[in-house]
Amino acid sequence: MPRGPRTGPRAPDARAASRAPAERDANRNSQKRERTDMDSAQIKDLDLRYNLHSWSKQAGLNPLPVAGGEGIYYYDTDGNRYTDMSSQLVNLNVGHGCQPIVDAIKEQAESYCFIQPSCASEPRAVLAKMVIDRMPDNMGKVFFTLGGADANENAIKIARLYTGRKKVFSRYRSYHGSSFGAGNLTGEPRRYPLEPGIPGFVKFFDPYLYHETIKFDSEEEASAYYVSKLREQIVYEGPDQVAAVVLETITGSNGVIIPPRGYLPGVRAVCDEFGIMMICDEVMCGWCRTGKMFGFENFDVKPDIVTFAKGITSGYVPLGGCVVSKDIAAYFDDHTLQCGLTYSGHPLACAAGIACLKFYDDEHILDRVKETGAVLAELEDQLLEKHACVGDVRHIGLFSAVELVRDKKTREPLVSWGRDPRGIMPGIISRLAERRFMTYSHENNIIVAPPLVITADQLREEMAKLDEVLGEVDDEL
Ligand code: PLP
Repeated sequence: MPRGPRTGPRAPDARAASRAPAERDANRNSQKRERTDMDSAQIKDLDLRYNLHSWSKQAGLNPLPVAGGEGIYYYDTDGNRYTDMSSQLVNLNVGHGCQPIVDAIKEQAESYCFIQPSCASEPRAVLAKMVIDRMPDNMGKVFFTLGGADANENAIKIARLYTGRKKVFSRYRSYHGSSFGAGNLTGEPRRYPLEPGIPGFVKFFDPYLYHETIKFDSEEEASAYYVSKLREQIVYEGPDQVAAVVLETITGSNGVIIPPRGYLPGVRAVCDEFGIMMICDEVMCGWCRTGKMFGFENFDVKPDIVTFAKGITSGYVPLGGCVVSKDIAAYFDDHTLQCGLTYSGHPLACAAGIACLKFYDDEHILDRVKETGAVLAELEDQLLEKHACVGDVRHIGLFSAVELVRDKKTREPLVSWGRDPRGIMPGIISRLAERRFMTYSHENNIIVAPPLVITADQLREEMAKLDEVLGEVDDEL
């Protein structure tokens, strides 16, 4: 299948491991490893024999057998230490082994593990209030889901029920989940297996200025152009047919594309003009990642629906949700909400969510991200200056991408869209993994998004490894 592989952590090969720095720290992690009664080879063998791994050809996989973690580090079953420079899948915001969240899950499990969503449960009630308290004043209620894809599924369902319209707009360079509806919203090649897809799901272009051929004088001018094109497209599709415009507030896995100034307010205005719901997918960029609680706070805009997942629990228990405006919430006072999930508002997940949001507050994570985000920005700007293979760096808070090119002048991507038959990007990710810098790539972008607890010194130490690998890529260009 011609899909641009997202290349993530694989166990470095034996040759690489022997070259790796001696970072065995058996003592620190011994408690967690005691629970593992199989050795690495047995775990890997069992894993590969019975599991299907996501987005991969199954033959030849080499998954890392993990025993535990602490802060920005995790450990394999042989005690080797790895630095988590992507917060796993940009979800483990608090880092590994966060005790207050572990304790909250245990405490809730001692009380009750599950109750059906029609009951009132304290963890769900408390967490919903905490979510709404952190939202703009136009937002009313939460519907909890299990992750990001079903948050988006339910968001489009709610928008369609509320507006009575069917069409949904989303962008080409987007990922909104892999289930059927969310996969149809998705614009990038992970959509292709679902094609021809659902009628009425319309794609539009992203304001991806690095590859734009029109030269604009300002970000505002670029925004006006893209917004006018979106408006035109909506007019051609029939505005009274369009229920929602769905956007990743800041495009995540497709290259951390930060919207130009004025873009999101422009989209907001078009939505207002035609009574269309503006849905911001905050699954990746929400929950302190950008130095604000939510990505949209960087752009002075209030959505009608916000979807979230990942950082609400930092992945300690799966949880997602959609937050709807007070107007939408009021509509469902006397219209049936045709949405339901057995595990909506799961008590263990909500307990983890409460502890996670408290951790963000107690540990002043937003302030820390502002500081470390500035360090990351500086380090990445230096990479851009220094390396022939770095075409662009995009960063906001601890959310960033390093975009690799063949030629800085022409901006030709190092690998073409949806195709990397020679495995160039996985090769670069492997070289980073040999240095215990663990992250993933998507298309020609390396994602750098470490846990939000990383220190400035740790960042400097790790980014020096990226600098070294990029130097090797320069030499090979
Ligand atoms: N939306 C965005 C922006 C995402 O990045 C992702 C996953 O990476 C999703 C939705 C899907 O979330 P999940 O994998 O929890 O279904």
